[in-house]
Formats: sequence, structure tokens, C-alpha cells
Amino acid sequence: MGNELQQRRSRVLGPGMRLSYNRPVHAVSAEGVWITEADGTKLLDAYNNVAHVGHSRPEVVEAIAAQARTLNTNTRYLADIVVAYAERIGALLPDEVKVVYFANSGSEANDLAWRMARTVTGRTGAIVSSHAYHGATDLTMATSPEELGLEHLPPWVATIDMPAGLHGPSLEPALSELSQAGHPPAFVAFDTVLSSDGIFDPSPALAVFADQIRAVGGLMIADEVQAGFGRIGPSLWGFAASGITPDIVTLGKPMGNGHPIAAVVTTASIAQRFADSGYYFSTFAGNPVSAAAGMAVLDIMEAEALPDAALAVGDSLRSALSSIDHPAIKEVRGRGAFTGVEIGQSVPDEATARSIVDGMRERNVLIGRTGVTRNVLKIRPPLVFGPQHADMLLDAFTDTLASL
Ligand code: PMP
Repeated sequence: MGNELQQRRSRVLGPGMRLSYNRPVHAVSAEGVWITEADGTKLLDAYNNVAHVGHSRPEVVEAIAAQARTLNTNTRYLADIVVAYAERIGALLPDEVKVVYFANSGSEANDLAWRMARTVTGRTGAIVSSHAYHGATDLTMATSPEELGLEHLPPWVATIDMPAGLHGPSLEPALSELSQAGHPPAFVAFDTVLSSDGIFDPSPALAVFADQIRAVGGLMIADEVQAGFGRIGPSLWGFAASGITPDIVTLGKPMGNGHPIAAVVTTASIAQRFADSGYYFSTFAGNPVSAAAGMAVLDIMEAEALPDAALAVGDSLRSALSSIDHPAIKEVRGRGAFTGVEIGQSVPDEATARSIVDGMRERNVLIGRTGVTRNVLKIRPPLVFGPQHADMLLDAFTDTLASL
């Protein structure tokens, strides 16, 4: 059955559509931190950050259904819930960053942010981290060395080597590379947990980068698609620890708990300059049903203090992982509910990392991999992942390590 579905899938979704795990997951339902497979097996989800407040969360489902029964239009009509939601998002960000443009995905949000930065600065250049992923549109793919490979980046993109560039951080080499290429910089953009680079904390470097890019007339963009909405806790945003206020913040993934909603949030001055010479509208972006989903997510996060919980569970998980003495483990790192375990003490060991991820899957726990050589285990559960779930993960992990 699974195999037959796999064949049909590859015929209709295309051969390039990858599946996770050696033995793919055939999911039929999900609730909280549990995904149920077709044969009834329950998998502990320690990977899916989109199901932020838990899979199939009833309050979010109800909010979507109630709004869909009442009204679903677009941002060209006045609608209370859309404005109220934008105000609420703005209130969660620093005072200067308040104008919200809705989008349908993180890729679209970044695409718009890039376009906005280029429009208001009149420049074309971009600086990103050396293994960044920022999206699947032409513009964002061009700034995603994780997908394109460093050698295929266009001349308007320069990179900062990560994690090396966190020590003695400087944009200078990237700035001079862009100026030689005839593309002065419009912006620097960073995923504030450096997820695709292998999960690092860029906080001190971000402050330096913000000063340097502004000194040359460019903008600082925080891509909060991964880190945002309390994943790194206790703050809602990854950039908070750096003390900077970005010029543009992009949001996505967990924002609607699976309902597609994303956003670009910026200052009134940038929004005005963009409106003077640019235009943006997207049919589904910021529709009332999306706003209802987003509101319900924020309600739950606040009522359950999920960012604080994410930090507590993440910290204790990391300390338990760090106490495991195994030759495959090089380092345990991360922030809040975003943990990386680097595999391979002397050299990056992608094969062992892959075996661990598949071994965990066989023990009914879902995790993933990231990093330049994909040797960093990525543990990034829904925020409702509690201490009891962390214990289950640890049991499966020690069992998997013992079987290597
Ligand atoms: N930015 C970052 C940091 C991401 O991790 C991703 C997706 N993994 C995106 C942008 C693109 O988001 P989406 O897949 O929703 O388009």
C-alpha cells in the first residue's frame, strides 16, 4: 500500500519531490506532538515546527472554521480581524517595526522583503550566510547557497562564512566583493537561528552586521521564518538577544499552525518609500481566515506561556544530550526548542547522522538533519513538546546510539 502510494506520488508530484526517511512516513492523522501512520503507529514529532501549538489544535481549527463560515475575502476590503491581527503582530515587535504586509509563505515574505529593500535603497546587492536558505522563488533561491551551491550564486550575492564569521564578525570582505561586482548592498539577511548553516547563535555578530550595513546605506533583515514566534524562547524573536531592531522582519512557518500565512513587517518610513515606488497585493495573503488562524495561535501561545516552556524543555533536553558520552557526538547546541547535535568528532559524519535519524524513525521518533554536510541532527518539535516527550526522545536516542 505504502509502496503503491509512493509510486503514484512520484508519477504525479514529480520525481524530484523528496521523501523523508529511509522508510517514508505515511501519515493519516496527527494530534498534539503525535503523528499517526496508516498502520496505526504513533510517531513522536520532534521535527515539525509548523505545528507550533500542536497538530490539529482544536482552537485553531475552530477559529479557521468559524471565520470560513462567516467571511473570507482579501485585503482590498475592510475587515476587522485582519487589521486587529496586523496590530497584534506589530505590538509584538519593537516599536519602530509596525507595518505588516501579509504573504502566503516564508519564500514570498522574503521575496517581498528583498524587493522592498532593493526598491527603497535603489541598490541590488545582498549579503547572506554561506549556507543560507531563504526560499523557493527566483529571488530568494538566488540568496540560498544551501540549494544553489556557493559557486552558482549570482554576482549580486555575497556570503559570510558560517560559523567562522561569528568570530571577529565583519561585513568588509562581502561589501568589497559586492562593490567590485557593481552591486552595492541593499541588505543583509540572516536566519536568526542559522538553521540551514547547522544551528548556531548569531546574536553578537548580528549587532556588528547591522551597524556595518547601515553605515553603507543598506538595510538589516531578520528572517524569523524559523526562529520566530517563541521557538528560541523566552523572547518571541531570534534577533532579540542581539539587541538590534531590524529594518525588516519576515515571518512564516508557525504563524498559522499549518494554515499558510506569512508576513513582512517593517518601519513606517520604509513602507512609505516602498509605497511611493512599488506595489504589492497577493490574492490570498492576509485573508480573514488566515488572520483568524494567526490570532488563535497567539492566544494559545500567550495562555500557555509556550515560549518559556520551549526554553525550559529545550535547555533540559540539551543538558541531557550533552551528558551522553558517545564517540559519534561532537557537540550539542541550540536555543529554546531548536536543538542541534553535531555528529562526527574529527570529521563531519553524514552517514552516521543519517543512520541515527532513520534509527529514531524506526523507534517512532521523528527528527531531521541540517548543516553544510547534513551531519547535524535537527530537533525542532512543536512548542507543546513537554518534558515527558523529551524523555521519550532521549530513550529512543540512547537506544539508537547503542545500535550503531
Ligand atoms: N526562510 C527560512 C529561514 C526558512 O527556513 C524557510 C523554509 N525552510 C523559508 C524562509 C521559506 O519558507 P517557505 O518554505 O514557507 O516558503
